[in-house]
Amino acid sequence: IPIPNEATCSICLDYFEDPVSIRCGHNFCRACISQYWRKSDTNFSCPQCRKIVQHRNFKPNRVLANVRQLEFLKQERDEVLGFKRSGEMKTQKLLVSALVTH
Ligand SMILES: [Zn+2]
Ligand SMILES: [Zn+2]
Repeated sequence: IPIPNEATCSICLDYFEDPVSIRCGHNFCRACISQYWRKSDTNFSCPQCRKIVQHRNFKPNRVLANVRQLEFLKQERDEVLGFKRSGEMKTQKLLVSALVTH
């Protein structure tokens, strides 16, 4: 299943981390957009469509948060399946990912 563009942040190009929507309807990680807007204090422009957003506000995007979680689960499932198919390499990878993520 290809990853839809909407599921990734156009600033860090990764899955959304604590996704938020801004006025124009684009979504970014909370940390990314905060960082991006730190430079300006009057006109906040959308990094994606360049639209000026008058108010520096954003709302959490639960849908995208779920997408990220689903992708994460899918990835874990793939790793487990891979592990079942082909031995040791995958075991190590699985151990590494377990160490990183848990
Ligand atoms: Zn981001
Ligand atoms: Zn925008």
